[in-house]
Amino acid sequence: MIARVTLEIALRREFDYLIPPELAGRVEVGTRVQVPFGPRKVLGCVTALAETSEHPNPKPLFKVIGEQSLVTPKVLQLARWIGDYYCCAPETALKSVLPEAVRKESAGWRELLHVRALVPAGEFPKLPKRQREVWNLIEERRELPLQELLALTGTTAATVRQLENKGLVVIAPEISERDPYAREQILPSQALVMNPQQVAALARITAALDAPVVRPVTSPAPAPGETGERGGVGNRVFLLHGVTGSGKTEVYLQALAHTLAQGKGGIVLVPEIALTPQTVERFKARFSTGPHPTLVAVLHSHLSAGERHDEWHKIRQGRARIVIGARSAIFAPVEPLGLVIVDEEHEHTYKQEEAPRYHARDVAVVRGRLEGATVVLGSATPSLESFHNCQRGKYELLEMPERVDDQKMPHVRIVDMRDTARGGKGIPIFSPQLKEAIQQRLERKEQTILFLNRRGYSTSLQCPLCGYVAECPNCSVSLTYHRREQKLACHVCGHQARVPGVCPVPTCANPKIRFAGIGTERVEDTLVKLFPEARVCRMDTDALKRKDDFRRILGDFRVGKIDILVGTQMIAKGLHFPNVTLVGIIHADLALHLPDFRAAERTFQLLTQVAGRAGRGDVEGEVYVQSFTPFHAAIQCARRHDFVGFYDQELEFRRQLNYPPFGRVALFTLKGRNEEKVRLSAEHLRRELTTALGALPELVLAGPGAAPLAKAESYYRYQVMLRARQMPPVSRRLATLLPTLSFPDDVTLAVDIDPVNMA
Ligand code: ADP
Ligand code: ZN
Repeated sequence: MIARVTLEIALRREFDYLIPPELAGRVEVGTRVQVPFGPRKVLGCVTALAETSEHPNPKPLFKVIGEQSLVTPKVLQLARWIGDYYCCAPETALKSVLPEAVRKESAGWRELLHVRALVPAGEFPKLPKRQREVWNLIEERRELPLQELLALTGTTAATVRQLENKGLVVIAPEISERDPYAREQILPSQALVMNPQQVAALARITAALDAPVVRPVTSPAPAPGETGERGGVGNRVFLLHGVTGSGKTEVYLQALAHTLAQGKGGIVLVPEIALTPQTVERFKARFSTGPHPTLVAVLHSHLSAGERHDEWHKIRQGRARIVIGARSAIFAPVEPLGLVIVDEEHEHTYKQEEAPRYHARDVAVVRGRLEGATVVLGSATPSLESFHNCQRGKYELLEMPERVDDQKMPHVRIVDMRDTARGGKGIPIFSPQLKEAIQQRLERKEQTILFLNRRGYSTSLQCPLCGYVAECPNCSVSLTYHRREQKLACHVCGHQARVPGVCPVPTCANPKIRFAGIGTERVEDTLVKLFPEARVCRMDTDALKRKDDFRRILGDFRVGKIDILVGTQMIAKGLHFPNVTLVGIIHADLALHLPDFRAAERTFQLLTQVAGRAGRGDVEGEVYVQSFTPFHAAIQCARRHDFVGFYDQELEFRRQLNYPPFGRVALFTLKGRNEEKVRLSAEHLRRELTTALGALPELVLAGPGAAPLAKAESYYRYQVMLRARQMPPVSRRLATLLPTLSFPDDVTLAVDIDPVNMA
């Protein structure tokens, strides 16, 4: 027998090894093995078994690692699809389906004393300085060997024991099973009595779950939404379009309960930022308590390697039958898989921005098809792609237009900032209308959320005399002024510079330099001046210094210790606070003018999401949208909560230009330090693409041209954009073409199929 093996070391191919007689029966697809590679021993994963090899005498593999193969055959098939569709090497695809902590696992755990951070239950205790420092490090690392901790902090074991006494850490020799939520007290929850729209949606989903599984489609799987006949396996995808607060999560919970009752498991994907302890708790409360508890495994990027390892094995062994996680949880080895839920399916964080550049929502649809599982995509603002798939009959649309408890949708008012700007000197941050509305909330002891998707104090530093603008030396962007820290910072590469007192152009030296463009820090400062009595708090990545700041600030806001919360997109989603009756959007047009065909869609989605934060309690909510283009369809439709109106108009625009969802896009980005070489390489690529793909119908190649972000971290960036009717024929030709292309050593090419970030 021959095992075909993908090796850990990145090489764009698979290698054949002989399975020695003593290992016969222990090697299957997905088994990890150690094999000889030249003089080295390397790790790999078996991707196929064969009777014979084309090689005259393949070497025998050394040994099998671990008891059980780590990926299920279906997940392996999924990895192959990813490799083919997204044009990446098989081992790159395989790396993403298996977390590193699991892949690299050596024989067993060493018996060392480990220190592990716990989620503190209740109030965080006051710590003396020394203990605080040690705790910070443990919290940062989640878990580390005691000896390493002592060496790093120069402290004694006694200090660590004190933290253990306070319930903040555990010290244990061999940690058999880490549970990051071990200290959380979770109260059981019961299924709620659903309202008619929830009942109707759930009925459709359970009918699909109960339907006999048509023989799952075998490889090669089609691209999401591109094939799949009505009534067959491909109709098992639902788009649950429910306004914010319509009770989608309850539908997910009951659909999962149905799946468990069938003896199957489920995967729930949520955007990383929404993976808060509260979200996890809602699922654990329903399934991990009571007489027949089911383990709920959690996978996200803040787990320690050990925690990730344990969660993965709990799933693989079939003990955890529900997985909740961010993007990569779509590869969790749940078997048999009955249901996949993708919440906030329109979120672009589902797209991985490094190879393999997969989109987890699309992978979910393909995985559902491979495994005969039902897929539910949920959102208050679905992507045009998914909505269009409903119109074409590929997905089934489930609508939940009402909020639970009949709460009214908030009243949205558009403020024309051109009027406000005309009045006096310059553009104010707050229109008189918004100022007045905030004042009212303060008087009524209600809360306000203010949203601006730009951090820092001001977005550029300019000299009005000579036209100088402070720019990053490494990137083609201006530097943002951070007032509290008195620095200029690049939001692309992190470069920092001092704030000059006068214009730095020697011949100018104008002392009156100007700060232009507003950021959240400036909004906060202005609020403090306008409403000195208000308790204001800012939430953006600058304000969050420590790991638990996010939770702490939200906790303070919830209990009413904060009157006004200012923030970036971090506060746009999923939070509900009954006492928030006002949401202000400071600058609604920010995302509208980005060089991206999805700019209007993003704006509509963001406005709708942010507006959904208002009026989640008894008092009706109010939203003020400040805009310089108040009549833009994205803004007007968001005001009227007119989803269909916006989508009809936007779809027509996409149809005319053959953009997704009507056509498919691939983006080729070339990067290098020498601009001329990058430009010539891009021209070369364009010629090669024309030759290799030119015969495909309706193919359009645009470029090469400098990317919207023309330079980043000292690398010049050029792009070629491709539009085609369908992607699989393009991917197949690219698989042949890409390995034959050669560029200068210092120029690299990134291929992004179905890109969401056009910069
Ligand atoms: P969505 O996910 O659509 O924004 P949620 O599922 O978070 O909405 O529901 C909003 C709130 O309504 C939650 O507090 C939830 O517990 C509650 N809820 C949902 N369905 C019901 C129901 N049928 N009866 C009572 N409360 C419900
Ligand atoms: Zn920079």
